[in-house]
Amino acid sequence: MKNITKVISILKKWSKPYGLPTLRSTHKEKNPFKTLIACLLSLRTQDSNTRKATDALFSVADTPEKILKLPQKKLEKLIFSSGYYRNKAKTIKHVSKVLLQDHSGKVPSSLDDLMKIKGIGRKTATITRTFGFGKSDSIPTDVHVHVIANRLGLVKAKNPEQTEQQLMKIVPRKYWFELNTLFVLFGKHICITMSPFCSRCPIRKYCLRIGVKRSR
Ligand code: SF4
Repeated sequence: MKNITKVISILKKWSKPYGLPTLRSTHKEKNPFKTLIACLLSLRTQDSNTRKATDALFSVADTPEKILKLPQKKLEKLIFSSGYYRNKAKTIKHVSKVLLQDHSGKVPSSLDDLMKIKGIGRKTATITRTFGFGKSDSIPTDVHVHVIANRLGLVKAKNPEQTEQQLMKIVPRKYWFELNTLFVLFGKHICITMSPFCSRCPIRKYCLRIGVKRSR
């Protein structure tokens, strides 16, 4: 799509009044461990719940050592607001253990090493590399990025992995870092998965509205 630069420029202006999503906001700390754990907590929940859980957890434990010292029940209580807290607590413990055992307590920066750890999928690995390490060699693609890119007609993909691969072919590299943040905010406020607010969409004239059956 020729208009990708225009779309990104409009979304940059549109997004200014909004605060950064939790995962993007971890970037300023340059702490890959916090980005990784925040991403694990963000799975299948809203950003506000992720924020509550990360604030509670990191005020008590923000390293693999400290997480492993937390009793399971206490960890579950700290991350309760993120939902699926029992499974997430198990995953966070496991990831912390592997980091200590195999990586001297540090988060590995390679995609392959990250994805070898049980519980870390491609999205979590790319988020960790992008926002934790500041590497811009992939486009973190969650459900918002996947849905919006397909609706716009930028890609024609069945899953986030395909969407990421297709986006990397058409989005200029200088936008790779910010694309996730822009689409996550846009998906939260306007291009909502269930029923988008097309009537107040600032990029409507660039959108093919592929697959949109119901809108507001
Ligand atoms: S026109 Fe509708 S479907 Fe297209 S980007 Fe805007 S809100 Fe999303």
